[in-house]
Amino acid sequence: MTETNPKKVIAPARRECMTRRRFVQMAATGAAATAVLGTAASAQERDEKSSKSSKELAGYIEKDGPSAQSCTTCHWFYDPDECVLVVSPVSPWAYCNYYED
Ligand code: SF4
Repeated sequence: MTETNPKKVIAPARRECMTRRRFVQMAATGAAATAVLGTAASAQERDEKSSKSSKELAGYIEKDGPSAQSCTTCHWFYDPDECVLVVSPVSPWAYCNYYED
């Protein structure tokens, strides 16, 4: 009959245990990667992945200056150059078919 050494049975499981230091390192690395990736994505990239309308589909037209209907007075516009419905950036003096005051 063979006897098993209890230390040999426990040893493989102990190797896979995560130390507190390793856990903190992994958490810091993950947080740093998330921060870098989050800031790397521009507003335009974010919009292209969303369900926003393309400028072409919205009939987006840029104008030289303010007019009665422009993005600055539109309900969907928010400073400085973003739109809830159309892919950003948008010009404050632009206009599209989704305009709402
Ligand atoms: S006019 Fe069109 S592009 Fe400009 S803010 Fe309104 S919905 Fe967006």
